[in-house]
Amino acid sequence: MIWEKLKIILSIIIDLFISLCEIPFLIFKTNKTISTPVRFKSQHQHKLDITQIATEIRSITNHNPSVQIVMDRKSGEGHSTRSTAYKDGKYRINISSLNSIIEINQHEEYAEVEALVTFEEVCKATIKYGLLPAVVPEFKSITIGGAIQGLGIESTSWKYGTFDKTVIEATLITGHGNILYASEVPDLWKNLPGSNGTIALIVAARIRLVQATEWIHLRYVFYPDLSNFLNDIEKKISIQTNTGWIGDNQVIDAIHFCGKNQTMNGIVAMYGGCVSSIPRNASIRKETVFSSFFYQHVKSILTKKKMTNDHNETNLYEDYIPTLDYLFRHDRGAFWAAAEVASTDPLIGFIFRRPYLLCLLNYFLKTKTLYKIAMLTSDQKRESTGMIQDVDVLPDRAEEIINWAINKDLNMIWLCPVRCHGTDESFFSVAQPNTPFVMNIGLYGVAKDLPQSNLDLQRLVIKLGGKCGLYAHIYLDREEFWSCYNYKEYIRLREMSGGHVFMDLWDKVAGIVFSKISIKR
Ligand SMILES: Cc1cc2nc3c(=O)[nH]c(=O)nc-3n(C[C@H](O)[C@H](O)[C@H](O)COP(=O)(O)OP(=O)(O)OC[C@H]3O[C@@H](n4cnc5c(N)ncnc54)[C@H](O)[C@@H]3O)c2cc1C
Repeated sequence: MIWEKLKIILSIIIDLFISLCEIPFLIFKTNKTISTPVRFKSQHQHKLDITQIATEIRSITNHNPSVQIVMDRKSGEGHSTRSTAYKDGKYRINISSLNSIIEINQHEEYAEVEALVTFEEVCKATIKYGLLPAVVPEFKSITIGGAIQGLGIESTSWKYGTFDKTVIEATLITGHGNILYASEVPDLWKNLPGSNGTIALIVAARIRLVQATEWIHLRYVFYPDLSNFLNDIEKKISIQTNTGWIGDNQVIDAIHFCGKNQTMNGIVAMYGGCVSSIPRNASIRKETVFSSFFYQHVKSILTKKKMTNDHNETNLYEDYIPTLDYLFRHDRGAFWAAAEVASTDPLIGFIFRRPYLLCLLNYFLKTKTLYKIAMLTSDQKRESTGMIQDVDVLPDRAEEIINWAINKDLNMIWLCPVRCHGTDESFFSVAQPNTPFVMNIGLYGVAKDLPQSNLDLQRLVIKLGGKCGLYAHIYLDREEFWSCYNYKEYIRLREMSGGHVFMDLWDKVAGIVFSKISIKR
């Protein structure tokens, strides 16, 4: 345990050093960093690497049929709020060699990438060709494999759905140690997204790329309440286009400012898309070490603008943002989670309110580093300090979640519509049949009565027919948890493919909570 923590501290120090070297790049130019080199690999080398992993799985399961296999990512890597204690005593499979891009096919508009390639790496490589993945989750270090296993979404999800829906083909390694293509096992593949690595390993994916440019034009639109926002996006969502990231209304998400201390409450939606030119005198926002957090930028737009009329839709502002800055706009500070938690400490809160001091801490504010820092504390401490949850409900149930959040003193809520693909969805999916879209609601910040309120929220979500993100601590007991998913089918798929060698989903996402966090059930 101490050794694990020392390793995290060492990795934070190394990252800090790299980050200090990056400051000149960040001050003078955007999108040039030295910490994320894009690696390429031949198909031949990729095959050798995955064969080695498959052979290791076969050999370990032959030796010990009751073995439990987990992925050997370091503590603080990944985007789960849980500690890695669930891995103790399990066999750790190392897939760190799977970190390269194999091919970018500009003409057929796809990229063949290994599972541990991050979205920052993919986007940096493909934007040069005027292409981007159709869905790009907003933290730089989310990986391709993680986004499939964790049902990644972002502001283009209103038209494409969860990230896995943009995967053309995937390469899997089963618990039997077999290398398979997703298209060879359609029922296994259909239910694999969202299973958090408990059915099979993903080792590579061919992902869909769509047209994009280096700049995004964003419009900030005010709505006094949720129903105005929902009415408007329903109209926008009914118009489907095939221009990829290019054009207006290609990206849709919103921040609901709702805290009791907000100077102005309401929803600011952000609509826009890639453009090929920027008008003279246009407002430009580039991410530098001196930039405010993106949510602060949105909030200042809302506060500065004096509302002059009562129209349902009020255009507040518009600006142009380098596309890579836009994609990862919430990476610094993990939305507003870091700032909200910091506000509970007078000294850190003081620093957070001063941009010139904040720029010195810039590195520590990358989501990747915030995770490492968070992992230095215990699960109980972390869970009692802040709430990090994404929940998905039908749009007409979103208000109930928002009211719950307001009662728990959350100040800001992220809203992101996610298109549903009918019966073509995994049973872990956030999507629901017979509805065009669900609303993803991001609840990040300091909430009342934690961690107890987190359990209350999860029960409320079930009652409303929704689903919770499984990256967070799950407080439901085994029975409540499986009432949300098709357990029989899950077991069948695991038995069919040898998936029982991977940890059971409830054990993985909730087991640790039962042993480490005291809560009233
Ligand atoms: C504050 C917060 C906000 C978030 N907001 C968003 C959001 O807006 N959009 C979004 O898309 N996501 C969001 N996420 C969730 C995030 O995308 C998922 O947690 C995602 O799974 C993280 O990917 P990762 O690469 O870090 O994977 P990890 O966290 O390392 O892994 C996630 C799970 O998948 C398994 N896994 C990972 N890779 C593989 C593989 N190759 N084969 C088999 N199993 C694998 C892991 O074992 C683990 O159980 C948010 C998370 C947080 C904490």
